[in-house]
Amino acid sequence: MTTVAEPAELLRRLGPDSVTHIERVPTREGETVPWPSWVPDPLREALAERGVAAPWRHQAEAASHAHAGRHVVVATGTASGKSLAYQLPALAALLEDPRATTLYLAPTKALAADQLRAVAALGIDGVRPACYDGDTPREEREWIRQHSRFVLTNPDMLHHGILPGHAAWQTFLRRLRYVVVDECHTYRGVFGSHVAHVLRRLRRAANRYGRTPVFVLASATSGDPATSAKRLTGLVVEAVTEDASPRGGVTFALWEPPLVPGSGGEDAAPVRRSALRESADLLTDAVINGVRTLAFVRSRRGAEAIATMARRSLDEAVPGLGARVAAYRGGYLREERRELEAALHSGELLGLASTNALELGVDLVGLDAVVICGWPGTRASLWQQAGRAGRNGHEALAVLVARDDPLDTYLVHHPEALFGRPVEATVLDPANPYVLAPQLCSAAYEAPLTRADLPLFGPDAPAVLDELVAEGVLRRRPSGWYWTGEGRPEVDLRGTGGLPVCVVEAATGRLLGTVDPASSHFMVHSGAVYLHQGESYVVDTLDLDDAVALVHREEPEWSTHARDVTSLSVTSVRSYVDAGPVGLFFGDVDVTSQVVSYQRRRIGSGEVLGTWPLDLPTRELRTTAVWFTLSPRSLEAAGVEDVPGGLHAAEHAAIGLLPLVATCDRWDIGGLSTAAHPDTGTPTVFVYDGHPGGAGFAERAYRIAAGWLQATRDAIDGCACEAGCPSCVQSPKCGNGNNPLSKPDAVRVLDVVLASLPR
Ligand SMILES: [Zn+2]
Ligand SMILES: [Zn+2]
Repeated sequence: MTTVAEPAELLRRLGPDSVTHIERVPTREGETVPWPSWVPDPLREALAERGVAAPWRHQAEAASHAHAGRHVVVATGTASGKSLAYQLPALAALLEDPRATTLYLAPTKALAADQLRAVAALGIDGVRPACYDGDTPREEREWIRQHSRFVLTNPDMLHHGILPGHAAWQTFLRRLRYVVVDECHTYRGVFGSHVAHVLRRLRRAANRYGRTPVFVLASATSGDPATSAKRLTGLVVEAVTEDASPRGGVTFALWEPPLVPGSGGEDAAPVRRSALRESADLLTDAVINGVRTLAFVRSRRGAEAIATMARRSLDEAVPGLGARVAAYRGGYLREERRELEAALHSGELLGLASTNALELGVDLVGLDAVVICGWPGTRASLWQQAGRAGRNGHEALAVLVARDDPLDTYLVHHPEALFGRPVEATVLDPANPYVLAPQLCSAAYEAPLTRADLPLFGPDAPAVLDELVAEGVLRRRPSGWYWTGEGRPEVDLRGTGGLPVCVVEAATGRLLGTVDPASSHFMVHSGAVYLHQGESYVVDTLDLDDAVALVHREEPEWSTHARDVTSLSVTSVRSYVDAGPVGLFFGDVDVTSQVVSYQRRRIGSGEVLGTWPLDLPTRELRTTAVWFTLSPRSLEAAGVEDVPGGLHAAEHAAIGLLPLVATCDRWDIGGLSTAAHPDTGTPTVFVYDGHPGGAGFAERAYRIAAGWLQATRDAIDGCACEAGCPSCVQSPKCGNGNNPLSKPDAVRVLDVVLASLPR
């Protein structure tokens, strides 16, 4: 067995044609600075005892902004010590003023518990840090409200528990100096838009008790963190983005699985080898070479599949070696996790395939290599996963294996998008009326809304309030707007209305999972094959009134694909760019869609076995969209032959590439293209937010349309397939069976747009 002396060499040996790029991310020496003079001695000493001799430059810089009363976001890499950036000003304030308080918000209870341990370990007198969340026993809550000066909680608890009961928190709020928003990049889309208002309600509550707290936010590296933080808090926020923490060297390889002959007979188009299989092979080769490797994959089923394939190949190569690879699916008990850590640490286990569950909860050190099966969605996750590799001073190896998907394909051919300046931004839209209305109700419940409160909630607040008054939900009095309801307003921070559909096994009554209402027609219509943790179920009935889909265990030899009919009308244009033959727009649209039938396709070959009609109601969605129009003459001049096919293919790829510029999932967005749209009178491609009222994705796409569409064009043009494939213009969620599609015309369409749009 050898060790990884030369990771790049090993890679070339494994897949000379599959490696599209090798990036040497050099070792970075950390840069420390002296403690800022305002850091009190006891805090400095407590930190020194914990091994912190001096802060990294970014920590001191961010902390000093906060200390000076400026709101700040620190957006640096994984494990760059962002905690110290808020601990310094917060604990300094708590030491200097024995009454001051700090509120810390984390997206998960686990992270809050981690931070609680870190603050408690400093052992600073009189801080009495405590978690306050759904698990906090009733009898402890009163004590925490009265005596803790560092309360750690989450946005849900703030929304449901703390703000509605603000009177009980007045002692705490009256002394509130800092609000810490950790991992703030996780507050995106609809959820992020709700959290933005929860934070505004917190600011209002603190103001009532005479406080204007300073916000300190911590974010993963992302595009434009200052703007995202401003949207989230409604405040002007300084950004600190230069990471001065040390980092081990990594050899990072981008890997594209090869095209292999298709399985549907002699004429079948070549298909790409699956990322799962490639990752399993990489894991196998690494283990044979004695390289301790972790393979990350999105689904539990994928983790099992990789481990099974790798074990089999290893046993063929060296009988017994297979036993040194395991799968980790999350949900394990604490002892089981510790056993796993120990086995990897000792080298008894050489390979592990895991879902992201590992990112939280397991402490792994001493790995040589990480294989990342498919783009994990954001650069933050990518670096978090890659950061698992690296054993005391050794060069670590990370491999990103592209899935058959336009974004993955683009990234492995455009390393600058991964290793250069980030473009993906965390987007949210607090102006979404479907978010604003329930949030204004919550605010009015907490205390009647006054005219002076309105600017806090944005320019759309007055219009939304008028509607709420007209509906009788709020009452207008000279002194303000009052909540009229009996209890509290019901607000779901993670949705914009509509009950999730429960998927229930009919025979046992077991709840398998939930599907959001917008996806339910697609995913759990009667006859649909529904996959749950690798098990296959078939839907018997979908009852929309009760929001229940009844299913039974069955493993048919086909998968199901819903077909829908969608129409869209433009209700208003908010902004546009007139670029000669091309127009670019951002505005509001009504989308009407109906799932009308589904196809069964044989697993493996994809052969269509038949089409079954469905009887489902239409769904209406009022949302925001970005769209571009082209004059028929410009398309003709560019040599576009199949106009509908070119537009449709461009639409698919554009949706696939949107996550490059905004942290969203391609399932968060929808599209429509047509050679003649009634509202524009010309060939048009629409891309819309899949959530009522919009979540900011279409708006972000509009703002940086040229970059987004250039990447789309490059992704299509760079794909090695001939007539279009899932790596470029085919979409797994197309309601039209990926028909018509023209890959060459999509490139021509986008060339026309890009030639006209101002850069
Ligand atoms: Zn292709
Ligand atoms: Zn389509």
